[in-house]
Amino acid sequence: MMDNQKSYEQLAELDKKHFLHPTTSIKQQQASGPDFILTKGEGVRLYDLKGRSAIDGLSSLWNVNIGHGREEIAQVAFEQMKTLGYSSCFATFSNEPAIKLAAKLAEIAPGNLTATFFTSGGSESNDSAYKLARHYWILKGQPKRKKIISRSQSYHGVAMGATSATGLKPFRDFTNSLAPDFHYVDHFSPQALRDKIQEEGPETIAAYIAEPVQGAGGVHIAPDGYFKEIRSICDEFGILFITDEVITAFGRTGTYFGIDHYDVAPDMMCFAKGITSGYAQLGGVMISETMHKDFIELSEGTLLHGYTYSGHPMACAVALKNLEILERENLIDNARVMGEELLKGFKQIQSERSIVGDVRALGLIGAVELVKSKYTNERFPEPLAPKVLAEAAKRGLIMRSVVFDNQDTLVFAPPLIINKQEIGELIQILDEAIEAVESKAV
Ligand code: PLP
Repeated sequence: MMDNQKSYEQLAELDKKHFLHPTTSIKQQQASGPDFILTKGEGVRLYDLKGRSAIDGLSSLWNVNIGHGREEIAQVAFEQMKTLGYSSCFATFSNEPAIKLAAKLAEIAPGNLTATFFTSGGSESNDSAYKLARHYWILKGQPKRKKIISRSQSYHGVAMGATSATGLKPFRDFTNSLAPDFHYVDHFSPQALRDKIQEEGPETIAAYIAEPVQGAGGVHIAPDGYFKEIRSICDEFGILFITDEVITAFGRTGTYFGIDHYDVAPDMMCFAKGITSGYAQLGGVMISETMHKDFIELSEGTLLHGYTYSGHPMACAVALKNLEILERENLIDNARVMGEELLKGFKQIQSERSIVGDVRALGLIGAVELVKSKYTNERFPEPLAPKVLAEAAKRGLIMRSVVFDNQDTLVFAPPLIINKQEIGELIQILDEAIEAVESKAV
């Protein structure tokens, strides 16, 4: 323990001096250093250098769907790296894991999505989707169709296109120049989409993009009928409908894909995160068979879009094994059943704690809102969610707070392997953390 403390302090100093962290307060990092220097993950739990353990209530970054510490995955990665650690997929080169994964995705994907372009993560998937959609319209002889419409509380990543599509304003305000031709509409208002299309001119719109459940924006679940109406508006104006399933794919919501809940199919779909449960960096965009046929027929020359790591053999081998585990262990069903337990626990807390407002979950993605008054939905002047987060971390539960747009929300997405007892533990810690904050707030 003493040695660990010493090495914690040394590492924390090096971290402060040399490690520019993603999506992190630089001032806070300099003041306190990293809190958790993680050393191990097993099942739903993470362990750190200070000897603590905690339930990973967000599957780290909504991605570790099959849980931590899977030796089978390590074995597959080892075998693949030993035989073919890397292969180009440009031009005439391909590799077996990438081919098999593309075929597997065609089998499980919603609607008639049949072809996959691979990337290394969600942001690249989004940028690729916008470029492929725009290129598609060039091929179709409608080059004016270049505008992308997204939603006001959406998060699509941090590459230039993905940042520009992100509805959450602080992410766009971080930089002083964005990509052109991105437009935003109110979330969950099909009429707002219709109005925007009319305002801009339908002949200028390439695509509409939406997360089936808005994740980073605060876990907002679409009302019944929303996506059906969106699909029909897109059809009416000949606009491509893209779902960003970076968080919601691969069992998270209790179905294979988030959009499966709504009985509609997209023309394109972005995915990442859960495809490998975070064990390797992989993402992609799927396109419909109709689009693929058009690409084949109309494309001349080279598809000038490709990453060095598109179709990385080790990442694709890991993804195949990850999907095998997801299916073998019935984790999608488990997400649905445990999601109901999670929501039951949230509702119990809601009935007992004066500062808990709306609670919601779809499968194993959920949210708990904190309010000054349950009846008027009034917020506290200073959000409480970060305080609850700190109290929960002290007690062994890691989650995330969302405070954009006047929200005061705790969000959850535990690994899909979580069991009833672990859900009970999560709920108990959450309740204690809320109680600790509530007793000071009211
Ligand atoms: N799209 C959605 C819906 C996301 O939630 C995220 C990340 O959280 C991204 C895209 C970006 O993915 P990445 O961080 O892998 O680039």
